[in-house]
Amino acid sequence: MISPVNTSAINVQELSFPLLQEKDLEVAVLRSDKVHPDISGNKWFKLRYYLEDAKELGKKTIVTWGGAWSNHIVATAIAAKLYDFKTIGLIRGEEPITYSASLNQAREAGMQLFFIDREKYRAKNFPVDPDNADNYIINEGGYGIKGMSGAAEILDHCKKENYSHICGAIGTGTMVAGLLKASIKGQTIIGISVLKNNLDAEEKIRQLFPGSAAELQVIHGHHCGGYARFDPELIRFMNDFYRLTEIPTDFVYTGKLFFAINNMITDHYFKTGSKLLVIHSGGLQGNRSLEKGTLIF
Ligand SMILES: *Cc1c(COP(=O)(O)O)cnc(C)c1O
Repeated sequence: MISPVNTSAINVQELSFPLLQEKDLEVAVLRSDKVHPDISGNKWFKLRYYLEDAKELGKKTIVTWGGAWSNHIVATAIAAKLYDFKTIGLIRGEEPITYSASLNQAREAGMQLFFIDREKYRAKNFPVDPDNADNYIINEGGYGIKGMSGAAEILDHCKKENYSHICGAIGTGTMVAGLLKASIKGQTIIGISVLKNNLDAEEKIRQLFPGSAAELQVIHGHHCGGYARFDPELIRFMNDFYRLTEIPTDFVYTGKLFFAINNMITDHYFKTGSKLLVIHSGGLQGNRSLEKGTLIF
């Protein structure tokens, strides 16, 4: 049995620790991670309208792709099952001897997995029959207009007009495009890129949502070595942050997001009196790839 999606579990948590008092800032966290134990945070919002579209079109199978620890793969496998779809996951790299916890979970949810060597993966040379009318294809990370529109609804779970800054992690940029869509005049949307050399991030966001009332700032250089890489400082921060706030973060997205925001606060990036909303976009399942004991939560 897969538990149902529960958007009413999403809440806003106010943070309180000395750095915030010292800088006279208010910081709140929107806990979209609480929406479902396996359909991680923003992935539910990004997938929803694709799945509804596929239902309306009478499709039978959802096809998507991602890496061996991908939040998107796990979320798609489980969310699509809630809608009674079959699922096909195209996984980057060779078939491993031992499957990652994420791949096992996707497989247990019924996802059929195919392993694609890295070159073909990069070229999006996939063994999916493009003429098969039963298939509905969702881009990696749910990048696209429907993903963006779904992500905009994350901000329905707070009083968005209370905040001067709304901050989120950037992978494909779909979520941040949605935050831009939902934002109001005078606000600043801050996107923290978790990839190295992700220099077209802003362009990709603007492709999904060209005009906006709010200002967009894409921040680079907080990737801690690159996508899904980490260093001891990041791990130390994540553990300290948990001690202070009891908020668990993942090392791929939200750990880097909160680490970056914390460093920006220390470096006086935000004017006194600013009110920040930081989106906890989920992703905790990926921490299973870390050696046991690395994190205290
Ligand atoms: C996928 C993911 C993101 C990135 O979202 P994009 O819309 O691809 O930018 C951020 N945080 C978490 C936890 C994710 O799983």
